[in-house]
Amino acid sequence: MRHLILVLGDQLDLDSAAFDGFDTTLDAVWMAEVAHESTKVWSTKPRIAVFLAAMRHFCAALRERGWKVFYRELTADSAVWRGADGRGKPAKGETFSDALRESVAGMKPQRVVMVEPGEWSVREEIRAAMESAGLPLEMREDRHFLCSRAEFAAHAEGRKQLRMEFFYREMRKRHDSLMDDGKPAGGDWNFDSENRKSFGKNGPPMHKTPRSFPPDEITRGVIAVVNARFAGHPGDLGQFDWPVTAADAELALKDFIAHRLAEFGDWEDAMWTAEPWLFHSRLSSAMNLKLLNPRTVIAAAEKAYREGRAPLASVEGFIRQILGWREYVRGIYWRFMPGYVDKNALGADQPLPKFYWTGDTEMACLRDALGQTLRLGYAHHIQRLMVTGLYALMLGVRPREVHEWYLAVYVDAVEWVELPNTLGMSQHGDGGIMASKPYIATGKYIQRMSNYCTGCRFDPAEATGPKACPFTTLYWDFLLQHEPMLRKNHRMAMQVRNLARLDEARREAIQKQAAKIRTASAN
Ligand SMILES: Cc1cc2nc3c(=O)[nH]c(=O)nc-3n(C[C@H](O)[C@H](O)[C@H](O)COP(=O)(O)OP(=O)(O)OC[C@H]3O[C@@H](n4cnc5c(N)ncnc54)[C@H](O)[C@@H]3O)c2cc1C
Ligand code: SF4
Repeated sequence: MRHLILVLGDQLDLDSAAFDGFDTTLDAVWMAEVAHESTKVWSTKPRIAVFLAAMRHFCAALRERGWKVFYRELTADSAVWRGADGRGKPAKGETFSDALRESVAGMKPQRVVMVEPGEWSVREEIRAAMESAGLPLEMREDRHFLCSRAEFAAHAEGRKQLRMEFFYREMRKRHDSLMDDGKPAGGDWNFDSENRKSFGKNGPPMHKTPRSFPPDEITRGVIAVVNARFAGHPGDLGQFDWPVTAADAELALKDFIAHRLAEFGDWEDAMWTAEPWLFHSRLSSAMNLKLLNPRTVIAAAEKAYREGRAPLASVEGFIRQILGWREYVRGIYWRFMPGYVDKNALGADQPLPKFYWTGDTEMACLRDALGQTLRLGYAHHIQRLMVTGLYALMLGVRPREVHEWYLAVYVDAVEWVELPNTLGMSQHGDGGIMASKPYIATGKYIQRMSNYCTGCRFDPAEATGPKACPFTTLYWDFLLQHEPMLRKNHRMAMQVRNLARLDEARREAIQKQAAKIRTASAN
């Protein structure tokens, strides 16, 4: 064998650099399903099923092309290696390194080739395994992304502070995205002042539910394995309908552009009970698995604007998430790893409340966001940032625990994107690398952006007493606890100034109530 091409579960791209120069007569592909990847963080069933179903479909697509694929397949209680002829041979071991050791070394390829993994520790694990097997390893740049690691390093060079907005403007220019004669379309880089409305009493306007992708035979096989092998993991596969092939992903994109993009901006931040999807794209898992190229998504959105099918504010808001945020967080991840994962700038020391694994809480907002997360493996950005993330931040949960939870529960969770969003943007654990201030708010923010509070036994206006909303109590307690640090941040000036409204007795009552919440959460 000349080249053995390693393909990881989130590298399912037929145009990937790993396949450049692939010769079917000399080269082969290696893919492995490994149980440990689903248990090292206690992954939800939907997350496990999305990865395995997409991997099996990708393997089938490669074999249809006549390519030789060595595939390690999980069964209900063990694993088998399936070679090019499809026949199974028992596989041993539990971890990714075990899988590499037991197979790759024995194949003795002249060279192992792959695209650079998206997770720092996986990259190190593979390097170490190949070194100990004495095999040359070539890691190629991941050209799925629009900003290479070298380009991000050049952007970051010499800057005291990194900010997404400046990075995004550079990306717009470099990729000629939403630009007219060198200027941003519509004369502005950002139209957020026109976006981010709340629904009001009547709730969301009429909208089509996103296109569904019912499981085919391969996916049904995966669902059976996941239900048997990972029975104790949270989540339910009864409604599993995620896109798991490149063709599905293309259809999901078309569906979003035709039915939801035009109103995406308006309702980007709004939430509503039992409405998990609203006007969101549901494209993150397909993009993160590399079934869908972000260039295709950005171009389709821009085309809709140019053809008058979607307003600029909405299209710009959507493109910013992908060309801006998605590329930016990847840049942050690689620039600050491996130390980033251990950062805890606020000294948070509380455990993650147990109800994050069950959704069993009296707080209606958390009950809804956690319930859909555990069941479907999905919550939209504001549910993640301003409900589950906000509560953990103000409660003072150790950021590493929060990170491990987010990595386990969402179908789109891969470390390069999840970690900076969780530890940085949501928990302020990096002290301001990702976001210039901690995102904190009282329950009144949630009341304004959703209908959650109408069905809740707490009152978002109250910070103390039996009806006090825990978000509101913890908000004031957070300000009191971190006042000296927050005072130095001009973006927090107004919020800190409001502390002057609290007399000594009120401060004490808030701190007492917050302490009670923490004690209850820790048990
Ligand atoms: C605490 C926290 C954890 C998160 N973890 C992940 C994660 O593991 N994987 C992940 O893909 N996204 C993550 N996000 C970002 C965002 O919440 C999801 O990308 C989005 O909710 C996915 O749903 P959608 O495809 O319907 O997105 P839409 O709302 O339709 O947005 C369109 C696309 O923009 C991209 N995007 C939007 N916001 C971000 C962002 N902040 N960072 C990177 N890309 C973004 C995604 O690719 C998304 O598909 C996280 C956000 C927070 C606050
Ligand atoms: S009152 Fe507080 S806990 Fe209840 S739904 Fe509103 S914000 Fe959430």
